[in-house]
Amino acid sequence: MANKALSFFILWLKMNPMRSLNDISIQFVKGVGPARKKIFQRLGIESVEDLLYLFPRRYEDRRSLVPISRLKAGEFQTVTGKVLGSSSRRSWYTKKHVLEVVLEDDGGHLACTWFNQPYLLNYFKEGRHAVCYGKVDMYRNRLQMISPEWEIIGEKEDERLNLGRIVPIYPLTRGITQRFLRKTIHACLERYQNQLTDELPVPLRNKYKLYNIKRSLRQVHFPDTLPDQENAMKRISFEEFYFFQIAVLARRLSITHKPGFAHKMTDAQTLKFIDGFPFTLTRAQKRVIQEIRQDMAKDTPMLRLLQGDVGSGKTLAAIFGCVAAARNGFQSCVMVPTEILARQHYENIFRMIGQGHLKDLRIALLTSAVTGKEKEKLYEAIRNGEIDLVIGTHALMGGEVAFKNLSFVVIDEQHKFGVRQRALLTEKGNNPDILIMTATPIPRTLCITLYGDMDLSVLDELPPGRGTVKTRWFSQERAEEVYALAREQLKEGRQAYVVYPIIEESEKLDLKAARAMFNHFKKETFKDFRVGLIHGQLKPKEGQAVMEEFKNGKINILVATTVLEVGIDVPAASVMVIEHAERFGLGQLHQLRGRIGRGKEDGLCLLVADAQTDDSRQRLKAFVSTTDGFKIAQHDLEIRGPGRYFGRHQHGLNELKVANPFTQLDILELARQEATALTGVDPKLEKEQNRRVGEIIHRRYPSYLTDVTAG
Ligand code: ADP
Ligand code: MG
Repeated sequence: MANKALSFFILWLKMNPMRSLNDISIQFVKGVGPARKKIFQRLGIESVEDLLYLFPRRYEDRRSLVPISRLKAGEFQTVTGKVLGSSSRRSWYTKKHVLEVVLEDDGGHLACTWFNQPYLLNYFKEGRHAVCYGKVDMYRNRLQMISPEWEIIGEKEDERLNLGRIVPIYPLTRGITQRFLRKTIHACLERYQNQLTDELPVPLRNKYKLYNIKRSLRQVHFPDTLPDQENAMKRISFEEFYFFQIAVLARRLSITHKPGFAHKMTDAQTLKFIDGFPFTLTRAQKRVIQEIRQDMAKDTPMLRLLQGDVGSGKTLAAIFGCVAAARNGFQSCVMVPTEILARQHYENIFRMIGQGHLKDLRIALLTSAVTGKEKEKLYEAIRNGEIDLVIGTHALMGGEVAFKNLSFVVIDEQHKFGVRQRALLTEKGNNPDILIMTATPIPRTLCITLYGDMDLSVLDELPPGRGTVKTRWFSQERAEEVYALAREQLKEGRQAYVVYPIIEESEKLDLKAARAMFNHFKKETFKDFRVGLIHGQLKPKEGQAVMEEFKNGKINILVATTVLEVGIDVPAASVMVIEHAERFGLGQLHQLRGRIGRGKEDGLCLLVADAQTDDSRQRLKAFVSTTDGFKIAQHDLEIRGPGRYFGRHQHGLNELKVANPFTQLDILELARQEATALTGVDPKLEKEQNRRVGEIIHRRYPSYLTDVTAG
């Protein structure tokens, strides 16, 4: 019913669109016009609002310009002066074009030099006034700047924006000068500032002493002081975080604000579970189990992200949920991305619950390898509730799969599944509890931003008694050394992986490489050992058979493409050779390495790689230096930036235009608190005083609210 109200509300919104500065074309800003409009459009700026939100990349403090006579060599400084003269020549030594401009002020001269930019001559005409910013050098007793940033200063009126103040430096200058941008943005502020609607609710503004929007934008572009600029940015980021978090939470509530299953587990049952394994659970596992227990006991659906490095024992935490479901008379399922993994999970779980108090749990494996009569029987059993827990692949989402009463869904390695697939599976139950497991370590900050719609459990501890993994990096020409090292290990009875990258565009070629190496290994390099080959194009049954042989020790060395990446678990395998390691991302490398050192033996990870780029060198160095998943994630984020780390389609990062969850965590957390408080009392934003917030969310994050109505 409440959903219906919201639908009407949104319909109403659609009929009453807000007039905003976003609807006013940039063309109408003084000094722009149709011709320059095109330049702006090329830069992605269409409307007045776009322009006002084109923020400076940095600022230059030109309040106290340094007289040339007081410049200090070695420091970055800003000067202004009149062009005394210029000369251009070609260096006989480097063959570069050299332009030298001499600036003069009341007390001295400064030489500014640029290379290979002869056109600058057109700007530095004698008698003009210029500003230069750069590092001051002393050369042959003469002050100079090499390739400083520069501007020509024009008429008097212009100078108020470009001199004697903290001056904004904008990121976009192709086809337009800084001076022009400053003038245009200034004009835009003057003309439209009274039409700015302040969307941040007044009580919040008062509570945190935040600037209003007009003051904020003025201070971002033309700050009076640096603290003013900081306050302005704080306010704008707060607003962005605030509305985005409301959107995220609204989406969450569309899932959790429904009647769900209350799974009760008594203390005794929980203890029995914890004590029922041949090993002691880590403290982290016990903590996470309690978190899951409390959450599942509620009569509203759980939506929880379980994050833990490879080997941290996520599966066990998931089984707890499955047991809770079973003890309350319901069914659960675990979905994983590959056949091999599904099988392995199944066996692992089978082994774990095979003994003692859990052996009454009826479990089944459903993958596309299950066919014919067998499949029909399995479907039937799931439908009749004769199975408590189904482990499977995408096959679980199939239209014919129906549960009697599915109340708990586990999705492993969530980045492999989209939100839609998640929905497909959960729709097989009546608002089941959801646990999503990921081994991709995400710094907490980003986690709040990206997955703020989920509660978070973290396994930050590995079970004791694991071996450590040593990593070494060899160049391509030393590959034979690597194979020799691997041979030594094999002789001692260890098992090894040799991994080849697969790149989508040339999958066949790469497979050929893996196959060729496999043959070569068999006949030459490792001819005294049994060599196996596994890759993504094998039929599920074939892949299983190879894995089986490797597990049983019938294969000593397994040549593989990246099908190994997720979750494969063969404790006796302690050596891994990664060929062309430079072609893998850091996260992938980490996942791969997680396959070894799972038993008591120390692991040995050997990289064969020639780093072609600075990027890949950094990546490999970082990888060799640590096995800590969080550190690796941090490196990865630094090297690649969040967009590429998470992939383009990940929610959260694209939506934030100004605010930065890395550097503004404190603001993010305040905004999140407020967003939580608001959605806590008015989850659907129906109250009179929150309608405006609803409008804003709908306008800014339409897809998030669509989810609410669809849910
Ligand atoms: P991951 O977090 O990578 O999914 P798994 O759940 O697959 O890790 O666990 C890895 C291995 O560790 C499994 O073989 C599992 O049986 C074992 N394991 C889980 N918890 C513990 C523990 N507390 N002590 C010892 N071994 C454990
Ligand atoms: Mg796992």
